[in-house]
Amino acid sequence: MRKQVIAGNWKMNKTHTEAEEFVQAAKNEVPGEDAVESVVCAPFPFLQKLVEETKGTPLKIGAQNMHFEESGAFTGEVSPLMLKDLGVTHVILGHSERRELFGETDDVVNKKVHAAFNHKLTPIVCFGESLKQRENNSTMQVVEAQVKKALEGLSEAKVKQTILAYEPIWAIGTGRTATAEQANEVCTHIRQVIKDTFSAEASEAIRIQYGGSVKPANADEMLSRTDIDGALVGGASLEASSFLKLVEAGKHE
Ligand code: 13P
Repeated sequence: MRKQVIAGNWKMNKTHTEAEEFVQAAKNEVPGEDAVESVVCAPFPFLQKLVEETKGTPLKIGAQNMHFEESGAFTGEVSPLMLKDLGVTHVILGHSERRELFGETDDVVNKKVHAAFNHKLTPIVCFGESLKQRENNSTMQVVEAQVKKALEGLSEAKVKQTILAYEPIWAIGTGRTATAEQANEVCTHIRQVIKDTFSAEASEAIRIQYGGSVKPANADEMLSRTDIDGALVGGASLEASSFLKLVEAGKHE
């Protein structure tokens, strides 16, 4: 059985003090790692402190982006080596905000996924269609192309360790959640794509989250679907009490 993974994506929010208050409130309240995987993806300046403060607890700390090179003349960028060195375990890659606002392409996302594995970081690889693409009935085609390119060249063993996050762009920060049927339909399709591209074992092992206006009130319904293995959560992950409810919902499989 696949373990659910609940990941908070704080985006560009919180001060250092607020970040610390969150982890103090959450770190000893999240269930053990056998029951559910809990991750908070925080802004870069907070990572070192949060990793130190959560050491020995089941709460993992992730980043929201990174460059694919280890070092070099890339002003303003953060490398996978730096993240690994800090003790970060996960990294969100290819979020639609990075793709839309910072010009990240499928090719760049693929390079980052390889770089993450080369530094033993678990990538949370985002994909999802725009409203226009959904209305054109091209959702499956779009998400299939994104996922195939993101995972290109990975070994089966690495595909199994990858976390995918289906985030329809129209559902992010809008309060307009995909229905559990819509979300599961895409996740089922992607699992089939993994089966056809890699293997049946890889498709059974890979975890696929849903993201887009997930909150405690709709988490149970989403997480009970056959092909949804967790959630990537923005707004509702900012308060510890709300994050803890989401993690609790992830326990039930
Ligand atoms: P919201 O949960 O705020 O809709 O954000 C979703 C998201 O983009 C998580 O990565």
